[in-house]
Amino acid sequence: MQFRIYNTMTRQKEVFKPIKEGEAGVYTCGPTVYHYAHIGNLRTYVSQDAFVRALKFFGYKLKRVMNITDVGHLVSDADTGEDKMEVGARREGKSAWDVAKFYTEAFFKDYKSLNCLMPDVLCPATDYVQEMIDMVLVLEAKGYTYNIPGDGVYFDTAKLPDYGKLVGKSHIEGIREGARIEANAQKRGPTDFAVWKFSTPEEQRQMEWESPWGKGFPGWHMECSAMAVKHLGETIDIHWGGEDHVAIHHTNEIAQSEAATGKPFANYWMHARFLVMGDLGKMSKSAGDFLTTSSLPERGYDPLAYRYCCMLTHYRKQLEFTWEGVEAAARGLDGLRALALKVKAEAAGPVPAVDKEAKYYKDFAEALADDVNMPAALAVLWETLKDASIPASQRLAFALAAEEVTALDLFKAEAEQPLPADAAALISEREAARKAKDFKRSDELRKALSDKGVLIEDTPKGTKWKLVRG
Ligand code: AMP
Ligand code: ZN
Repeated sequence: MQFRIYNTMTRQKEVFKPIKEGEAGVYTCGPTVYHYAHIGNLRTYVSQDAFVRALKFFGYKLKRVMNITDVGHLVSDADTGEDKMEVGARREGKSAWDVAKFYTEAFFKDYKSLNCLMPDVLCPATDYVQEMIDMVLVLEAKGYTYNIPGDGVYFDTAKLPDYGKLVGKSHIEGIREGARIEANAQKRGPTDFAVWKFSTPEEQRQMEWESPWGKGFPGWHMECSAMAVKHLGETIDIHWGGEDHVAIHHTNEIAQSEAATGKPFANYWMHARFLVMGDLGKMSKSAGDFLTTSSLPERGYDPLAYRYCCMLTHYRKQLEFTWEGVEAAARGLDGLRALALKVKAEAAGPVPAVDKEAKYYKDFAEALADDVNMPAALAVLWETLKDASIPASQRLAFALAAEEVTALDLFKAEAEQPLPADAAALISEREAARKAKDFKRSDELRKALSDKGVLIEDTPKGTKWKLVRG
């Protein structure tokens, strides 16, 4: 079976051909850690997770690198405005370093609550400033850069004939020809971008480094180029990100990497479409008012219901977020888990090896091979679990194999989960409060339980609970 993935660069599905037989090097742009990740960001990470799990399913040895943007991502894409880390530091009255530490930890807590696999290499940009300086020096020596006094070192995009090939020539020409008022009139061209920014006397920065050009900090795009090359080599197999990265961040990563090395930067470019929210449109951290994964347990949902919700829409389709959608996904996941547990109960004896020649297995693999079509893969899982003509032990073996990709904690039953200490007492106290119609107290107790990772659901048959990961 051939694994086909949609390559943004060529705008078509292509058979994945790794640089090294049987291996896959994947670089994924990580979070900017000045605030919590919102559920839109996590849609992209769930999409990537399903993808890397599919690679493993097909037997590839994976090396996955993810950066942590803890410096240099400016408020404006035009390389102007404050560094987002400094914005976060001011907002919270903490140092930029403490802000980065706090939100990096918060990110991975959310990330793991969605059963996303940890990358093999995690690289905070601030640990790679020297590598970035080295790459800027190469670009400078090759004549690709120019300096704007009091501002920074810029990449001259006119020097690269195929600049913008990821987003398309017409898009770049549109920017170049457009009568847009430039935020930075000293740039030679509107698509030029900073590879190194100078610290200025007006802006007191917490994060800055000495460099051949004086004190300053790296341009945002530079980190991914320097770290990808360092950990995965000058040409990598697959580079991943959200769709917003196509026009600027990835376009500029390609420009500077290819100018520096003279080689193609990545063979496949994959992008998840955005999660949008009704009238709010796309969800963004800078807008401030956004939903995080903790919004899920607060509303009584297992975060994995959100993972399931994400996987019900193909990653290259926009995902319209609604609470009704999460509710439907939560019900669906409950049903799928109940079915999996029923099959497990029916299957007596040791679990056999999964039958890779069976139609359901091939259908599941084919869905994954078709640009990670998770909705189709999940449909095969449902149908197979329900199909009584297949021996229960075979269905169980298949569900266990599928679970390596779906990662929905299919076999987690409420009864299997131990209640944390004193939660049982809180549940009884809450039931008593509800009977006494003391809803204020009952809500307080729901919150106390939710803080312990215990979700409460009031059903006609009484109070039900389930555990979510902390
Ligand atoms: P950031 O933390 O802003 O650097 O973004 C982290 C990741 O989330 C990047 O891959 C973005 O492309 C992606 N992203 C940002 N907003 C959304 C959204 N609304 N829906 C899906 N992905 C997003
Ligand atoms: Zn990046």
